[in-house]
Parts: sequence; structure tokens; C-alpha cells
Amino acid sequence: MSPAAEVVAAEVASFPELVRDLPVTPEVTPHEIRTHLREHYDFAEAHPLVDVLQSVIDMLRRWNLHTTHPRYFGLFNPSVHEAGVWADALAALYNPQMAAWAHAPAASEIERHVLRFLGGFLGLTEPSAGAHFTSGGSEANHTAVLLALASRCPGVFERGLAAPRARPLVYLSAGGHHSFQKIVRVTGLGEAALRRIPMDGAFRLDVEALELQLRRDRAVGCRPVMAIGTAGTTAAGMIDPLSDIADVCAAHDLWFHVDGAWGASGLLSPLLQPSFAGIERADSVTWDAHKWLCAPMGAGMLFTRHPSLLRRVFSTDAGYVPAERDAVEDPYLGTMQWSRRFIGLKVFLTLATRGAGGLGADVEHQAAMGERLRDRLVEAGWIVVNDTPLPVVCFTHPVLRRGELAIGTLLERVLAKGRVWISEVAPDGHEHVLRACITSHRTREEDLDVLLEELQHALAGPVD
Ligand SMILES: *Cc1c(COP(=O)(O)O)cnc(C)c1O
Repeated sequence: MSPAAEVVAAEVASFPELVRDLPVTPEVTPHEIRTHLREHYDFAEAHPLVDVLQSVIDMLRRWNLHTTHPRYFGLFNPSVHEAGVWADALAALYNPQMAAWAHAPAASEIERHVLRFLGGFLGLTEPSAGAHFTSGGSEANHTAVLLALASRCPGVFERGLAAPRARPLVYLSAGGHHSFQKIVRVTGLGEAALRRIPMDGAFRLDVEALELQLRRDRAVGCRPVMAIGTAGTTAAGMIDPLSDIADVCAAHDLWFHVDGAWGASGLLSPLLQPSFAGIERADSVTWDAHKWLCAPMGAGMLFTRHPSLLRRVFSTDAGYVPAERDAVEDPYLGTMQWSRRFIGLKVFLTLATRGAGGLGADVEHQAAMGERLRDRLVEAGWIVVNDTPLPVVCFTHPVLRRGELAIGTLLERVLAKGRVWISEVAPDGHEHVLRACITSHRTREEDLDVLLEELQHALAGPVD
């Protein structure tokens, strides 16, 4: 093995356990890193690869918020499986060009195979042409909005947004993802076209409020085109009432999109699967493999029941791409990306080595840890404010509610010690609470012990 391969292989093998003993959060300033880089890398001379790899490993170990840490109770950045790491290395090595099938027969078919399999969990029996890998959930959500426009506003891609006689509107719960705010800007729909629907008392989209808003908008001549249900909201891990939203979409002729970027992986667990009822009625679904399928980042997926619309939005005739003759489709004709990396390999390798059952078990383990955390917080006198089968726990304490201690102060104390990472959210848009999400399949009961310990310390007083 080359010395470079040895250095990297050793790190890949040891880091997942070793990270347990590192602080979750780095203590560093931009100045410190910039000075280090200036001093060591003026690019005037060429360094041996092993030396640079070692130096990069040192920097990443020291100056990274370790999202793969079992006590990173953070945003949806799950710990990766080793298979995905090697997959990314091989994807870079062969560097297949995913724009054209003929340039990447093996890679294209591996991706298709994975997407067909995962599409089965969404009730898609022939998803191949209607599914593709994306850079992430944001791109997938963007694509879904474009599909909705293609479907409900014919002519819009030829004549522009001036074409629809009535103004197209998009409906999303107040707890839905903020990527849609960017999307309505960049699509030219405008922020005013995004109707944020209030949530019910449980942080889920309020279906009655949705109906009311739809009727109001229709009465003034607007054209509602799409409603989005979120399966696993960012703040509180809630699953919107997908079946009810599907009913409303059917009644009002709306495109039904489910943003399951994080949560959809719960479908791999037979225990959690019933919570997603209604997702099989979606016209399109966003599902990130780089979230709960534990693939390294840069692995989103878009599924749709209407593959011909993908072509309506994205197909073009680039004279220099040799046309495909057989019964296959060139990927660049159905996605925004053109040159694209072999994203699907890390999902393939993860699925193949862990098995769908293994990944489902990972998800269930985390859901169980979430339940455990909920129970232990309540036992210790904390108040849990959300109720979901997914492992996102939003909580506060009577001391915080009474204003005797500011939540920001408590959070600072917790984070300062670097043993755990949690965050603060306002799931209803008003009350700020603490948020802890189980996002690593390596999180164990003893990691919850540390979290509870840190919370109790922070509640009791400042760090000495
Ligand atoms: C993470 C997330 C997104 C954005 O996906 P990226 O992969 O970060 O681009 C969108 N919606 C939901 C519900 C998410 O959890």
C-alpha cells in the first residue's frame, strides 16, 4: 500500500471510535486557522502527499465541530458508515461523468438500482425515470417546485412566469424548511407566493388553516399550485398529517410534495413506517441519503410519479452529447445538474454492506434513544414540548420558563465544556426551547448520561 493510502486507511479505521474522546466543539478563532495556513502553505513548494494528508487530518481533528460524535445531539448530520467513505474515494478515482449514460454505464445503472429499491418504500413501482440523485434536499425541493409549475402552469417554461393567468402560489407549514424561501426567490415566484400555513397545537401543519387560505386565495383569483407536507420538521421532528394534505391537494387540484429530507429514512423501520402514511400519495418526495441513511454529505434524492415532467423542465438538445439509442435516458436530460459526481455509489455501498434491515435497525435504535432521552428528561424535572416518534426532543425547564435563567446562558454553559452539542429552537415561532436530536447510530445510553449531567450542571450554576 502507498504511504498515503496507509495514512488515510488508518484514520478511516480509527476515527469513529477515537472521536468519542475528542471535544465535540472546537475552540478556535478564524485568526488561528488563517495564520496556520499562511505559515504552512504558501504553495511555493510542493509537499509530499503523506505530509499534507497528515496535516489536513490534524486540522480536521482539532478544528471541526464533530458531527459524527456520538454526543453531537445536533442538526440532521448523522454519523457515516465506513462504506460510504470508501465509496466517495472510488467515485473520485474513476470520476464517471454522470451526465450521459454512455459515459458511465455501470455508475448509471448502480444509481438506478438504488433508486428503484428506495422508491419502493414510497410506493413507486417504476421510479427509475422519475428519480435522481441531487446535491441535497434543497436541490430536490427546488426541482419539486419546478415540476409543480410544469404540471399546473403549462407554458410557463416557454413564456415565463408572466404566462399563468393567475398568480401561482405554494403552501408550506410555518414549520417547513427554509429552503423553500430561497426557492420561491430563485424561481421568480417571489417570496409573497409562499404561503406559510399556521401549525396546530402539535407543531404540525393545520389542515383547516390550509383549506381556509386556499379558499381565500382562490376567491381573489390566485392559482394555488402546490402544497408541501414535511415528514420530519427541522425544529421539532414532526410529521405533518400527510394523508389529510393529500386529500386537500386532490380536492383543490394541487401538486402534493413531501419534504422528507431527513425523516423519510424512517420508512426503513417497520415500527416507524405507519407514521408516514400518505407519503405514497405524493406527486414528488425529497429524501436525503446524507441524512438518516448515513451516507456522507452531498447525497439528496428526488422521486416523482411523473417522470415526463422532469423532461419537460430539464431536457435540451446539446448537439455534442451523443444521443442514447437504447431504452435508457441520459441523466442530464432530467435534472438541473449536468456534469455530476457519482453520488449514488455511497448509498449503494452503505445499503449493500448494512442491508436495508440494518439501516432500519440503526434508525430504530436512534428512535429508541430519543424515547429514552424524553423519559429521562421528564424524570429529572424537565418539560418536553413536542411529541413525535422521531428522535428530536424539544424541552425546557420550569426555571427557564419562569425566567430565572436565560436559555442562552444555559446553552452557553453546556457548549463551553465541549462534551455535548445541543441547540436552541422556537418550534412555535415564539417560545425558545432546547433541542436535542439523536443523530448518530453510535449514540448509547452512556452518552445520554453525559447530556443529562451537563444539563443539570448548567442549570445549577456557571462553569468553574
Ligand atoms: C435538511 C433539510 C432540507 C435541506 O436539505 P439539504 O440536503 O441540506 O440541502 C430540506 N428540508 C428538510 C426537512 C431538511 O431536513
